[in-house]
Amino acid sequence: MVENGSVVRRSRNSIRRPAICPFCVGKAMIDYKNVSALSRYISNSGKIGSRQRTKACAKHQRKLAQAIKRARFLALLPYAPSHVWLTKGVGLSR
Ligand SMILES: [Zn+2]
Repeated sequence: MVENGSVVRRSRNSIRRPAICPFCVGKAMIDYKNVSALSRYISNSGKIGSRQRTKACAKHQRKLAQAIKRARFLALLPYAPSHVWLTKGVGLSR
């Protein structure tokens, strides 16, 4: 892998561009009450998605994790797979 400016080349044909944070651009908002938006950033087992998955910058990944934890405390999102089963997947995108 050769780093060439801001573009990282992996192989001959695929050029991987750096991920642009959707929260910095303004495409997405972080709000602990917006469950449908937050559920996009948690896995089927209720885990918070990694930065590679959410494509968020470090600052917004921290805010996103805090918002998901707040929503979990208010029982809007599940903590664990057993909660997913109990709530029949409420708050999860299926
Ligand atoms: Zn950001």
